[in-house]
This record gives sequence, C-alpha cells and structure tokens, in this order.
Amino acid sequence: MPGRTKKDREKLLNNFALDLAERCQSEFTQAMEIYGGDFVKVKNKISFTVDAIPACYTGNHELCRRHSFVCKGGKKFWLYNRAFLPNSFKIRKLDENLNAIRKSEDSSNRTVNVRLNAIMWNSVFREHQRLHPNCNGFLQWNMEREEKFGFVNREEAMCDKCTYRSRKFKLYEEVQTKKPGRKAAKINVSAQAALSQTPLGYTGLRKIVLGCNMPAPSTSGLQKRANKVLPEIVNIDKKDMKARRKQLIAINTLRGRKDPGSVSLQADGAYNNAIYSGIGKTPFQPATQVVYSVAEAETEDKKAL
Ligand SMILES: [Zn+2]
Ligand SMILES: [Zn+2]
Repeated sequence: MPGRTKKDREKLLNNFALDLAERCQSEFTQAMEIYGGDFVKVKNKISFTVDAIPACYTGNHELCRRHSFVCKGGKKFWLYNRAFLPNSFKIRKLDENLNAIRKSEDSSNRTVNVRLNAIMWNSVFREHQRLHPNCNGFLQWNMEREEKFGFVNREEAMCDKCTYRSRKFKLYEEVQTKKPGRKAAKINVSAQAALSQTPLGYTGLRKIVLGCNMPAPSTSGLQKRANKVLPEIVNIDKKDMKARRKQLIAINTLRGRKDPGSVSLQADGAYNNAIYSGIGKTPFQPATQVVYSVAEAETEDKKAL
C-alpha cells in the first residue's frame, strides 16, 4: 500500500476499502443489466470477475478486458476519476508482498546444531544438483514452511529459480527417551535447567531472546516444559545430596570416628515474608513458608545436606 506516513497509509487503506465495495457493487449492477437479470449467468460470470479485480488494482488489466464489466484497461479504466483514490493508485503484487515478508525473516536469527546444519545443506545441494542439473538458483530456507518448537526449528530448503523443495530437516538434537511421539529438543530441556538456576522469569527470557532478533518460545510452552523438567532437577538434587551424606560418613570412618553417622551441623531458616510485614500483627517472625537448610560442619566444603 503506497503512502508516505502511517496516517497517509491508513487513510488510503480506508479509501481503498470504500472503492473496492463500490467496484463490486457496480460490477454486479452492470452484469445484471447485461444479462437481463439472469442470476445464474451473472453468478457464473462474476466468478471470473473476482479474479480480475485484485489484478486490476495492481495495474494489470489483462483479465479486466475479458471478465470485468466496468474496466477494460486503457481509456475505460476503473480508477479513472474515482472519488476516493488517485488515478495512479496501485497495490503491490502478492508475490512482492510475500517477498517483503520473507526479507524481514531473512534478517532474523535461529539456533541450529552445527553438525545437523552441515548435513542438511550437503544433502540439499546434492539433491538439487541431481534433480535440476542446469539450475543455478539460490537455495535458502522456506520460511513459510518453518516449524518452531521453543528454541529450535525444522526447516525445508527451496530454490528461488526452480520448483525444488527439500524434505524438512530437524536442526536440533533430541533427548533420547523410550516414550512414543515427538522427542523433546535437548536445548529446550537444558534451557529450563539453566533457567532454574537464575532469577530470570519467562518474560525476562523472552525479552532477551526477542532482543537477539530470534523467535521466542511462548510462555505456555515454557511452562509446559518446566513442568516436565523441574521434577527431574529435584530428583537429581536429592540423589546428589544422598551421595554427599554417604561420602561424609565415609570420611568420618576414615578419620577413625567411633560413630561416623553423627555429624555436626550448621543450619538456618529463611522465610518468604519480609520481617517488617508482621509489625503490629505478631511479635514473632511473620511467614507462611519457611526453608530450613542444613549444612555439615565436618569438612571445609560445608556442603548442604
Ligand atoms: Zn482493470
Ligand atoms: Zn533450482
């Protein structure tokens, strides 16, 4: 849509809508007149006119000449002396618009696995060469057919000169499980694990990712994955702490203690409510939740148990 400023474009868009409504109306009225009100004939004819109208606004009147009742190109040209639109009005062709969209995707970024990316392009180049030996087209991702899963994506390659389309390639490594169905991407799982170690929330993460001009995972997707990953992290932590306790007993045994299972500890509690929030309500520590962590005081590491 042409127009210098945003306001110009909005106004033009409104006028275009008005003009289009009028165009359809007058095509119909003309057709009814020509076919003497024979609705079946008019319906049949109008179905061709429908294709002519969008082409007409892009400045191509080839279809108008055959199928339009109000535009024949040249002198009897629809946009000539229109109330809302200038004679020079033109919309960009659909494929030009698509190219503009494609260009904006072209400058965005993706996470790809280095090895899988190499595999994709080697097989794409070979297949393209084999199927279209004389084509010197430019191969790139077909962004309209891209599939995104959180941080990762599946891509298909296409040629800008011939009809070549590759199969879709996974550009990420998967977590190996025995469960049926689509397997989780390693990076989506490890991002969750990393997220659990930082004070960053989903909104913060999305901001960073979008700031890098990358498609960001959806909040709901992140939550879904977190529900799977976080219980795993709890399990790993529990196992880890169990191993630490065993190790501590082993150390005490080596030290020749009579009772290696009894260890000296240091501990402290942390409350979820701020201490001043209880002023005037309770003389004690105000809290609805408490975390009480215990660390050993036997070795220099002071490991949490
Ligand atoms: Zn036309
Ligand atoms: Zn090609």
